[in-house]
Amino acid sequence: MELNRRDFLKMSGACVGATVAFPFLSDTTIWAAPKEFPLKKKVKETSTICCYCSVGCGAIVNAYEDGIIKIEGNPDHPINEGTLCPKGLAMSQVHQVDGELNPFRLTKPLYRAPNSTDWEEKSWDWMLDTIAQRVKSTRDQNWNAKANRTDAIASLGGGELDNEECYLLAKMNRALGVVYLEHCARL
Ligand code: SF4
Repeated sequence: MELNRRDFLKMSGACVGATVAFPFLSDTTIWAAPKEFPLKKKVKETSTICCYCSVGCGAIVNAYEDGIIKIEGNPDHPINEGTLCPKGLAMSQVHQVDGELNPFRLTKPLYRAPNSTDWEEKSWDWMLDTIAQRVKSTRDQNWNAKANRTDAIASLGGGELDNEECYLLAKMNRALGVVYLEHCARL
């Protein structure tokens, strides 16, 4: 059947009219029912920074007593001005999945000793002291005084580090004489 512009407009108008007159004809099963909130209880809004990449977008977390309702871009943030990419929009899943606390989220540092196959829970103090001691002893044992550097340590930054953290990490590594610096984002 051939459809000219006038026919198309007529058919479109008829469809819209039918939907307005008979709303039960439209498929309502595709819409999720909104959660009900008592109006006198306040939804708490907190501003935060996206945890995923070094762009460092600002977000607003809307939370109710039983968890996060939604996370949206912060319109007052100078970097993203209200936008978030799909990763940032899914940030609430770090904390909870389907309304339950995310069972895979790590909340304590895990340590695997050399040649061991088991992970042990350690405190942050133990972990930071151990890392500092091992960096210092590795640097001292492998110091190249002629070149003023060590080739025994490499530093790999993560995409979740923001600009300021990357700056401090690079500065600390240069001060230690570490020359192999890499970052997954390569921004
Ligand atoms: S992951 Fe997306 S929302 Fe998060 S900081 Fe990076 S660009 Fe922004």
